[in-house]
Amino acid sequence: MKANALKKAVDAAMPLGIELLETLRTETADRAGVSRETYGPKEQFAHDLLRKAAENLDLETRIDFAGNLYMTLAGSDRSAPGWITGSHLDSVPMGGNFDGAAGVIAGLVALAALRKLGHSPARDITVMGIRAEEASSWFAGSHNGHLGSRAALGMLPRSELDGAINSRSGRTLAQHIADAGFDVDAIAAGRQALDRDRYRGYIELHIEQGPVLENRAIPVGIVTGIRGSARLRSARCIGEYTHSGAVPHEYRSDAVLATAELCYQLDREWEAVRKANGDLVFTVGKLYTDSKAHALTKVPGETAFTMDLRSQHLGTLEDMMAKTRALADEIGRRRRVRFELGEFNISPPAIMDASLQAQLSDVARELGIDALALPSGAGHDAQDFAHAGYPAAMIFVRNAHGSHNPHEALDPADLALGTQLLTRFLAS
Ligand SMILES: [Zn+2]
Repeated sequence: MKANALKKAVDAAMPLGIELLETLRTETADRAGVSRETYGPKEQFAHDLLRKAAENLDLETRIDFAGNLYMTLAGSDRSAPGWITGSHLDSVPMGGNFDGAAGVIAGLVALAALRKLGHSPARDITVMGIRAEEASSWFAGSHNGHLGSRAALGMLPRSELDGAINSRSGRTLAQHIADAGFDVDAIAAGRQALDRDRYRGYIELHIEQGPVLENRAIPVGIVTGIRGSARLRSARCIGEYTHSGAVPHEYRSDAVLATAELCYQLDREWEAVRKANGDLVFTVGKLYTDSKAHALTKVPGETAFTMDLRSQHLGTLEDMMAKTRALADEIGRRRRVRFELGEFNISPPAIMDASLQAQLSDVARELGIDALALPSGAGHDAQDFAHAGYPAAMIFVRNAHGSHNPHEALDPADLALGTQLLTRFLAS
């Protein structure tokens, strides 16, 4: 297949992708942004929309026991191990339209382009619309996120199905999955929706959620690895509510000052890691006093907070977890409070497959697409495939204004370049 013919076919198929993205925006966004809630009606809308588009392209479709969608273009040798491409169709609350959806739609555009070319690929290509990648934004409690891909891979245990609690409804993930019409028992039993032997690898196109490609003026990235995470989902600091005027410092158990000190000390640890050229990010994304009990004139007796540590190196995460516990003990003793951190939820870092990365660079060069090798700070379904033993790779597409906000901005011309790269890779 000639590179020029492929480019033309992708460009001709792009309007379908743009139209799907526009429909998603119209139907799942309001003024505050896009909210395709994990296992909720708007995530379902996205799955229905994509499935219909796949049927219009005459692709084979199926839905697994966890609600993941598979859209397959048959290859000339159906027994040859096929490619899986795709991404997630849910979003964070008040997020952007391209996070996740761009990758599923790029996959579909790739298949539409191959159809237009009358090109039958050597092996099956399956585009996956994945559930629940953004579960961490909708479900508190104890779970390790990326629930849809992990369910498909047989890696989502019963403890997480019962331990993840929807922040709005207060009901468990298991209940939400059952309500959405899927099979909780099959997931808990560790059934696999994908037969490992039937697939050659997993490749995901995704918008870049950091500023690197934008700042470097390069349209496409090839991901080298994905940061792992260690997270506290519902940590607390317990002190004592007392009168803010009457009680001297030495008799206070001030939960706010103790929590603030913990955050400050960990920020200094982060600085030390950066100075040593290590890889780490540290975020306390939620931190609050109890609105029923707090008051301007009370020493705060309790805080609740979250913690999100991410690194490309498991050792750095382990080190920071140990430091967090040691600091919580020391500050707790000194400030007369008690930290209840709970268990860290750990998702190990994932390295992307070296030969797939090299293959992507070759294809980019052949197509004349400027591509930069870079790590992914954000988590993606690709890491779960890597953990399950699949060779995995990722294509990033330049995106302005960051992500997990309504201002994500993806230039259709960049998406077309990323999709050309994906299509050529999948077809070769
Ligand atoms: Zn995403």
